[in-house]
Amino acid sequence: MAEHKSSEPKKPSAKDAVMAERKANTARRAAALEAEGYRREDATVSILKANLMTFVTALPLIVVVILATLALHRGAYQDGLAKAFYERTILHIVLMIVSIPVHEGLHGLGWRFFCKEGWRSIQFGVMWESLTPYAHCREPLALGRYYVGLLAPVTVLGVVPSILAVVTGDISLLLMGTYNLLLAGGDLTIALIIARYRGKDVQILDHPDQCGAVAFVKET
Ligand SMILES: [Zn+2]
Repeated sequence: MAEHKSSEPKKPSAKDAVMAERKANTARRAAALEAEGYRREDATVSILKANLMTFVTALPLIVVVILATLALHRGAYQDGLAKAFYERTILHIVLMIVSIPVHEGLHGLGWRFFCKEGWRSIQFGVMWESLTPYAHCREPLALGRYYVGLLAPVTVLGVVPSILAVVTGDISLLLMGTYNLLLAGGDLTIALIIARYRGKDVQILDHPDQCGAVAFVKET
């Protein structure tokens, strides 16, 4: 394809600098672990596959929560589910928007407790190409500790409101819980992928620019 402009060298943007620094941090951590005898294995998934996997991971949970709520609280929805839903439209829009940054914040909070450098090891941002917000942890963590941060959002924003929705029949809790189970589809997929490292001597490092993690395994 003909380009009118000559190919001037592109100035590195602030975003490129952040990514370059993050990759350098990952490389440094990897080198340190490899020197200790750990072998690197990528445990990543494409954004497309993560989205498709949501049908396997989150969707069955969502169906169960909705069916259980409707079965137990049929009386509450005699005027129709849609009417109950639209009566609180503003609240529901706010819940759906606010859930997204809170979700990322909970990843960061969960990992932060196990990081030697605390919040300094947690980075937040948005991958604008795919409109995907993210939280990134810069320190390698033991599997159980990585799981705490990985599964904090689905637990707090998805599972807890879903259980409360089944118990109370509240439509806003039902929306909040099921919507957040859906948002956590990718997290649940990663949780399944790294489950293969259970019982191994492993350190999990959040992948610098892909969905998933880098596992460092030491054969015992
Ligand atoms: Zn997440």
